[in-house]
Amino acid sequence: MTHVITQPCINVKDGACVDVCPVDCIYEGPDQFYIHPDECIDCGACVSECPVDAIFMDEDLPEAARPFLAKNRAFFKRSKTTASDTDR
Ligand code: SF4
Ligand code: SF4
Repeated sequence: MTHVITQPCINVKDGACVDVCPVDCIYEGPDQFYIHPDECIDCGACVSECPVDAIFMDEDLPEAARPFLAKNRAFFKRSKTTASDTDR
């Protein structure tokens, strides 16, 4: 499981979720922020911080927001951004 950032984040990108994530697994992309699916520990802390309710647990994603699960994964495949990169 993972949490997923969806449509409402696009063009808002205020970063409020980043500040509360205990494992720093939320990364800024060109259009929205993205949650690394392998690093997220599903604590749920980010969900209530988001002013536009953009964050869902993957299994609770509304139908219309399902494509964002793949979009989040694809972002990290493209950018190869991981915690281990930032630890170096
Ligand atoms: S659910 Fe927790 S670990 Fe996952 S992105 Fe949100 S704050 Fe970070
Ligand atoms: S708090 Fe919500 S709108 Fe702000 S960056 Fe995170 S997901 Fe995007």
